[in-house]
Amino acid sequence: MSTETPLELKKTVNLPKTAFAQKANLGQSEPARLKKWAEMGLYGVVRRAREGRERFVLHDGPPYANSDIHLGTALNKILKDMVVKTRTMMGYDAPYVPGYDCHGLPIEQFVERALSAKGKNRADVPVVSFRRACREHAAEALKRQTRDFQRLGILGLWEDPYLTMSNRYEAETARLFGRFVERGYVYKGARPVYWCIHDQTALAEAEVEYREHTSPSVYVKFPLDENNLEGKAFKRQLLGNEEDPRRVFFLIWTTTPWTLPSNLGIAVNPNFDYTAFESNGEVYIVADELLGDLTQKLGLGRKLSAPGEAEEPAGAELSETFSAVETLARFPGSRLDRMEARHAWLDRPSLLMVGDHVTLGGEADAETELDVSDARDKKATGKAGTGLVHTAPGHGHDDFVIGKAYGLDIYCPVDNAGRFTQEVEHFAGLSVFEANPRIVEFMRERGVLLHSEEYRHRYPHCWRCKNPVIFRATPQWFISLDAPAGDPRQFEQDDDGRDRSNFTDDVTSEPASLREGALREVERVEWVPAWGEERMRNMLKGRPDWCVSRQRVWGVPIPAFYCAGCQEAVADKDVINHVADIFERESADAWYTHEAGGLLPEGFKCRACGGTEFTKETDILDVWFDSGSSSVAVLEKDGSLRWPADVYLEGGDQYRGWFNSSLMVGLAAHDRAPYKAVVTHGWVVNSEGRKMSKSEGTGISPNEVVKDSGAEILRLWVASSDFQEDVRCSDEILQRASDAYRKMRNTARFALGNLDGFDPARDAVVLSEMHDIDRWALAELDQVTARVVEAYKAYEFHSAYHALYNFCTVTLSARYFDIIKDRLYTAAPRSRERRSAQTALNHIADALARLLAPVLVFTADEIWENLPEVRQGREGVPPSVHAAEFPVVLSAERDEALLGRWAQLFAVRERVLRVLEEARIAKQIGSSLEAHVLLEADRKTFDLLEGHRGELRYLFIVSEVSLALAAGGESELRVQVRRASGQKCERCWNYSGRVGEFTRYPTVCERCVEALAEIEAEGAAA
Ligand SMILES: [Zn+2]
Ligand SMILES: [Zn+2]
Ligand SMILES: [Zn+2]
Repeated sequence: MSTETPLELKKTVNLPKTAFAQKANLGQSEPARLKKWAEMGLYGVVRRAREGRERFVLHDGPPYANSDIHLGTALNKILKDMVVKTRTMMGYDAPYVPGYDCHGLPIEQFVERALSAKGKNRADVPVVSFRRACREHAAEALKRQTRDFQRLGILGLWEDPYLTMSNRYEAETARLFGRFVERGYVYKGARPVYWCIHDQTALAEAEVEYREHTSPSVYVKFPLDENNLEGKAFKRQLLGNEEDPRRVFFLIWTTTPWTLPSNLGIAVNPNFDYTAFESNGEVYIVADELLGDLTQKLGLGRKLSAPGEAEEPAGAELSETFSAVETLARFPGSRLDRMEARHAWLDRPSLLMVGDHVTLGGEADAETELDVSDARDKKATGKAGTGLVHTAPGHGHDDFVIGKAYGLDIYCPVDNAGRFTQEVEHFAGLSVFEANPRIVEFMRERGVLLHSEEYRHRYPHCWRCKNPVIFRATPQWFISLDAPAGDPRQFEQDDDGRDRSNFTDDVTSEPASLREGALREVERVEWVPAWGEERMRNMLKGRPDWCVSRQRVWGVPIPAFYCAGCQEAVADKDVINHVADIFERESADAWYTHEAGGLLPEGFKCRACGGTEFTKETDILDVWFDSGSSSVAVLEKDGSLRWPADVYLEGGDQYRGWFNSSLMVGLAAHDRAPYKAVVTHGWVVNSEGRKMSKSEGTGISPNEVVKDSGAEILRLWVASSDFQEDVRCSDEILQRASDAYRKMRNTARFALGNLDGFDPARDAVVLSEMHDIDRWALAELDQVTARVVEAYKAYEFHSAYHALYNFCTVTLSARYFDIIKDRLYTAAPRSRERRSAQTALNHIADALARLLAPVLVFTADEIWENLPEVRQGREGVPPSVHAAEFPVVLSAERDEALLGRWAQLFAVRERVLRVLEEARIAKQIGSSLEAHVLLEADRKTFDLLEGHRGELRYLFIVSEVSLALAAGGESELRVQVRRASGQKCERCWNYSGRVGEFTRYPTVCERCVEALAEIEAEGAAA
């Protein structure tokens, strides 16, 4: 024993010590860390660390560079960041090049408003100046978004994102349009498209949204033309005599009376039965199955004087409103094919046609349904209409298709502003929505209206200005979904040198249409969640040709020309590529700064007439064409990326939008989908499940959350939500995330605090020599590591989060740390028992940093910095956790027996803790260290406990444990608590009968005396 003065006991306890603060102070610490990352060039550091590894490419769907970020954008970008970071930590080289969608209507509208605020009119501003203002607005907005995304801890090539308005991108967009032209997909024609009369532009399918709308629902009679042989023969069939004075009418139903002046036909289903019946001296024709509903609704049929009094005429049917309907004839719809009716009031024919699109339910309207859920809703509405569909080929998709087949005109007497043109009798100059009630009144006066009522239904609206849209045929550029491709397949290699045909190995060698190609690719793509496949397939089956022209200026001009001599349209790949090269040098502004001659190749002549004078197309491309071009424009042109992408990750609305347009571009460019997997997330909703929007004032601003609580809290909220469903957010939910954060931070802090002075190279204990409970902790760590990495692989971030959260709070904080505290604090600092626990803690802290890194990007890096090996700056240890990889599982064969044994020991512990709690409540003991626990167990449990006898007091955190074998085969474990005997040790607070025996340290127990001897010896050696 040393002759020096005894040690001061307080100073011999190993209290935790770490620079990893208890209070996170994320509001300050996050920006500081971002600065550090910027200074070290973290993105470059990570990329260099993965040089030569297999690539994993998440391709960023570009957010619109218009407004500030909202919770939905934050969710989307955080999810992408988690994908990139998890793949990076799995060992892939996973670059992330963010992008921005910069063209389009909302920016034009913003600039228009800004101009009018200055008292200027848009028409007075040259196009190039207007485009410059749009460009500046987009540049400003994307700068703010970039700042906000970076603040969320999203790592990527922020200094060089792709912009759809950059010269290079605009040129590439034009070239891709040329590619569609080259393959024979592009045509110009009049077709009905969604048209916003407010914004005066065509809209893409993705630019309309369905909302409740009240329309006038009208039942209108169209007379049979009896002045031709067909008509006479038909009348004879119905009435037995063509001279019969009763007139025959076809009954149609519509909710868009304004389309009636454009009526050119009536469609029936060839396979339905139709019935002719008499009412008030007129004969009507409707679908047989709707007869009962219609006569009731329209009050048709022969009125009975009183129920049951009149004798029923032969063949009569009795409806519940006491009106009897006399059926004159029944015949299939096919009987009506190509017969003629007259327009209800105009002097022109209306042709009867047959088509399978005619149903007995839902809308008689001319709208194209692309949304699956809408279609489902619609089916559920049941029977409606008359089974005869009013057809205006200029105002509806189905109408257009059947009108074309029957050779009807694509007649559209409605101008850009939605007003009837001069040729429309009675209603010229009226806007279509103004005209609706007038037309109804007019028909009532003329006696051609049988019934009208209000009708509430889901109707397409413009997603920008929220006004109802119309269907209107105008000359537009289209990409055909059904034209066969002109090119034979070519097999190409991607940038990693892989044959692209490997991705789609049995690609047909026959030229396919875009629709066929798209449907084939849908099966090869991995959809997460799986229902995405069906959703996409339905979307593709139903979509009409892609209208790509927009009557706007802020975008990529459609690089087409018109011959001044013969009006021939020139859309030619070589000409387009020539124009694209000019765009690449001067931006697409060149379209507006040069005359046609300056944009065409030298000496270009009209192929039709040899003319040399040309005018320019004035339409620009649909912005979905712009963003859809990104796979080629970005993935192929950036050497660090690769086509196709491994994954696209966007909100569910992109089945109509970006997933769709990207697929079309991929097919035109390479006959392949541009993605191998598509992951979709739900909407952000409030705690009641209602969609959040800024305009409704229910939104939570991500920037506010970041400022008040830190980006980590927002990220933790994202990780803890099942993003495949709608994601709820509220102050309370964010508070829960904050609480979870605090707990996980404390777990990490405990581990780090107890690693002070631990040098893994010098002090680590080999696994086989570690304490059993330390090995158990590592076996648990292995399990959680495997589970978390597996979840990350499957994009199940919330499963990973829950596994990590439970590991931190239950396995570690409530069990392991509680138990090893005594050993860590009171054993001699360099003793094997303490080193064993520290070895486990070092693995745990290291693994927690790595596993948490994709989610808690700031905190995990802070944990990492405080790890002994990182603090020492050990060779080969990455300077940031983000350049590290996921932990390797330590013991190759997981110790199932070990985990099983400890599961039983913890079950015993639960029992003991309950009894201790009771004793505490009964004031029998204070702290559990005042307890002596007596156990009586059956043979099996006894053997297990006996094998861990030395550890039991630490497991229960008591001063003494007695163990006995239960007498008489009793199987129930008996737990008793007594006060521990002896005195409380001043150093470790355990009770021992030996306190007082030791003269040098009279107030401590035998364990502490040993530890103190070691400490003194080490001190002497040092
Ligand atoms: Zn609009
Ligand atoms: Zn010409
Ligand atoms: Zn002690």
